[in-house]
Amino acid sequence: MTPFAPHVYADRRRRAAEQAARAGLDGILVTPGPDMTYFLGYTSDTAAERLTLLVVPAAGTVSESAPDGITEALAVVPRLEAHDLERNAVGPVEVLAWSDGDDEHAAAGRQMRAGGRYAISDSAWALHVLALQRSLPGTSYEPFTLALPMLRAVKSSEEIARLAAAGAGADAVFAEIVQRPFAGRRESDVAAELDALLREHGHEQVDFTLVCAGANGADPHHDAGPTLIHEGDLVVLDFGGLADGYGSDTTRTVHVGEPTVEEREVHDVVRAAQQAGFEAVRPGAACQDVDRAARRVIDDAGYGEHFIHRTGHGIGLTTHEPPYMVEGEGLPIEAGMCFSVEPGIYLPGRFGVRIEDIVVAFPEDAPQGARRLNESPRELVVVG
Ligand code: ZN
Ligand code: ZN
Ligand code: ZN
Repeated sequence: MTPFAPHVYADRRRRAAEQAARAGLDGILVTPGPDMTYFLGYTSDTAAERLTLLVVPAAGTVSESAPDGITEALAVVPRLEAHDLERNAVGPVEVLAWSDGDDEHAAAGRQMRAGGRYAISDSAWALHVLALQRSLPGTSYEPFTLALPMLRAVKSSEEIARLAAAGAGADAVFAEIVQRPFAGRRESDVAAELDALLREHGHEQVDFTLVCAGANGADPHHDAGPTLIHEGDLVVLDFGGLADGYGSDTTRTVHVGEPTVEEREVHDVVRAAQQAGFEAVRPGAACQDVDRAARRVIDDAGYGEHFIHRTGHGIGLTTHEPPYMVEGEGLPIEAGMCFSVEPGIYLPGRFGVRIEDIVVAFPEDAPQGARRLNESPRELVVVG
């Protein structure tokens, strides 16, 4: 992934420190993975049982919480990784290297405030969280995305440009795959082509290539398998990965040969639901309003019990992340949030239909609504 300018990472760490202070936290604790990439432009690939931890004290708490006088952020790293981190991390970060045999959790604990409250990466290993708890009793931890939900959810214009490029790459993949034969091939053959095409179109990582033919389409997360695709099948294609560090994720449902009236009707309902979800992105709307708008269309058409998942999820450095477009998520939609709108109808034993686009909320060219980052045709495409 091409790093952004150094000030981008410094700004992110400063924004995190400010948001942490406003949330009444003493700081944030970042473990290897997308959070670390976000704050350092680099993530450790060392074995995860060795503690690597970026400590960012909340703004205004430095003198209290950092007895060693951390001015901005401090990375606690295994000694064998310290050089790698110093060379690759972007921006001024202090490094505290520990050696095998040290009590690294106690060392990290000395950089924190005893009895303090910290947000920690959602995917931090229990091994480390529990050891930190033992080292610093009375200190409490909250998952990063619950404590500071907006931090990674709201994307900068540079991030949106990368998500748009990833989306355009995925659209190019769809345009090519529908030119190829489906009938008589295995789902896994088509999936292998999707994988190769994603890599041709700028993706360095492929996260999923779902190809769900006929009755398999009724299982939203059916993975491509040995099933042969037949004339008459609806085929759900859901694929994505990372292009220059940022995610794509799109779904289209195609038909092999001429569809029936019922298949067209169900597809039309999903398409209308997807459009309604897209249009629900309005000033003042909450995440759950996108779900409600899409679900209402499917309910009204009589298929409500067959729409069995939330309407969408955020996307960024990972292909699934907060915010979630789901009933009960009252977070307001903010400018720069990027997320999927992906309603579906799943008829067990028969077929499924899903249509998914990534959208960006309130972009400069559409300040009252959303802009799609996928523009593959949403009409039912007939393949051979
Ligand atoms: Zn059919
Ligand atoms: Zn998705
Ligand atoms: Zn998807």
